[in-house]
Amino acid sequence: MAENEKKNRAIGIDLGTTNSLAAITRDGRPKSLAGKHGVIIPSVIGFDKDRLMIGVPAQQAMVDNPEQTVYSIKRMMGKAAADMDAERDRLPFAIVPDSRGLASVKINDRVISPVELSAAILREVKKQAEEALGETVERAVITVPAYFDDAQRQATRDAGKIAGLEVLRIINEPTAASLAYGLDKKNRGNIVVYDLGGGTFDISILKLEDGIFEVLSTAGDTNLGGDDFDAAIVEFLLKKAISDGIEIDTSSPKIRALLKREAEKTKMTLSDQEKASVNLPLPQGDYENEISRTEFENMVAPLLKRTLDFCKRALADAKLSVNDINEVILVGGSTRIPAVRLEVKKLFDKPPHCDLGPDEVVALGAAVQADILTGGRDDLLLLDVTPLSLGIETMGGVMNAIIRRNGKVPAVAKEAFTTYVDGQTSVAIKLFQGERELVADNRLLGSFDLTGIEPLKAGTPRIEVTFMLDADGILRVSARDIHSGKEQDITVRPSYGLTKDEVSDMVRSSFVHAREDIDRRLFIELSNEAHTVIKATHRAFELYEKIEMDEKEDILDAIEDLEKALEGNDPQLLREKLDDLGDATADLATRMADNAIADALKEKTIDDAKDMVK
Ligand code: AMP
Repeated sequence: MAENEKKNRAIGIDLGTTNSLAAITRDGRPKSLAGKHGVIIPSVIGFDKDRLMIGVPAQQAMVDNPEQTVYSIKRMMGKAAADMDAERDRLPFAIVPDSRGLASVKINDRVISPVELSAAILREVKKQAEEALGETVERAVITVPAYFDDAQRQATRDAGKIAGLEVLRIINEPTAASLAYGLDKKNRGNIVVYDLGGGTFDISILKLEDGIFEVLSTAGDTNLGGDDFDAAIVEFLLKKAISDGIEIDTSSPKIRALLKREAEKTKMTLSDQEKASVNLPLPQGDYENEISRTEFENMVAPLLKRTLDFCKRALADAKLSVNDINEVILVGGSTRIPAVRLEVKKLFDKPPHCDLGPDEVVALGAAVQADILTGGRDDLLLLDVTPLSLGIETMGGVMNAIIRRNGKVPAVAKEAFTTYVDGQTSVAIKLFQGERELVADNRLLGSFDLTGIEPLKAGTPRIEVTFMLDADGILRVSARDIHSGKEQDITVRPSYGLTKDEVSDMVRSSFVHAREDIDRRLFIELSNEAHTVIKATHRAFELYEKIEMDEKEDILDAIEDLEKALEGNDPQLLREKLDDLGDATADLATRMADNAIADALKEKTIDDAKDMVK
């Protein structure tokens, strides 16, 4: 293989709720990469004193070490802790809010973010890929569900960076599945991707036009999948045991784990055979039984019907009927069940694509996309991409990318920002190019001031910034104050004076410095939030007089501590002190509930703070 091709290579990664894996394209064909435990890396992390176990070893240790094992991390990515209530009962580890209210995991008194945990899994995936390939891997395309929002995508991107990967692109899982089957080569059509995994069910309907996939609708249930099929078998077995006069102690976690393991084995056997024997090594002796495929299909029929109802809903949302669907793709381990295949085929009236392994197809598609982005394929429009991200500076010197690196050209992207100071009548729009989190480390392209903004309370104005990059690489940036209608723009050529090597260096430095960059960005974002909260607290003191001396002193102490933390550079400490101030002002905020200031006192989200221009 040419040295150049080697250097350019990038892998595709399916970062799944239950399992993760990597693939690479060789000679135009995507292939999964196997490690010493096979292709699949369970998305499980075990904490064992000072040792971190990831994948199969963590999964094996789970039965003996349930409180120290974390899984289903993807369910938490970019989510508020308050939104995790439904999951809490299902997950054996503690889910706690961080200072921004985002869901984090508490293990052995350490609070760890889902981004850090996902980074640990990605690091393992990277390691496995490097072992399989015998060379280092630095670049990847990572997949996410089609319904992931910006925060969840950004969290995934951050995880990749922390794992030492340059994330070429985040792509939707159904799009990846379509690429794996080469559907992008067809001109147009509507594609259904039916994804039934271990714990989740997703149906996505995509529209393909001229090589571009658009998500028309998604539906599904984040708590419906193979685990429910296993539970149905366990319930069936328990009933049979009772009628056979056998007592099974379901209060024992070990017995429950054993039942689940046997049930899953039985389920898998029934995908290939009409009958499966079950053997439970119980303390009182072995209990043997048999389950037929028909019995299994009867048990899971209501669950299957639910997935089909979601399909119908997604069709309705996309304003399509079954006849409008050209292709159906099966994804996820549970689509190996013959009844699932049959029902999907019946509903859409066509045989679904299932030749590629349903648990590998997403990673394979990510590898196809990685190949396209690194120039391995030249039959696609996607080759015309911007080599570096383009964005503007937001409060505290943070880079806010508006057109991302590797984004298709021509491109138009729009984002809304607001002001930081009350009565602010102008904002400085500074354009930067590069992959680092702070603009100081990126390349300044130009700047202009938008003046004549209506003087309103900080956070009220809406300033829309539009980036238009044309096919010749000319970038026009405009900023418009929605209230006053005032507008200003600038035109620059981002590629001017940049060599290929400089571009590579800029990209490389972003993942070499990933951890410190993300910490610095976090510190700045938290500082913005801290300043806003401190200002609002002082304003509350002025406007609201019913504050006891003790309470006021506590609040002032908390402000002092927060100000001290602001002088340092530790985001963890700043987060803690912000929480303390939040606790100290909680009562006051509640009492002032009818007062507009209460809103300002309540913690602002980082996103609010981040989206402020100077
Ligand atoms: P995934 O989340 O896509 O990795 O899928 C994992 C789920 O697929 C688990 O619930 C597995 O039990 C299930 N699964 C894997 N292989 C089979 C099979 N041959 N038959 C039925 N279910 C399977």
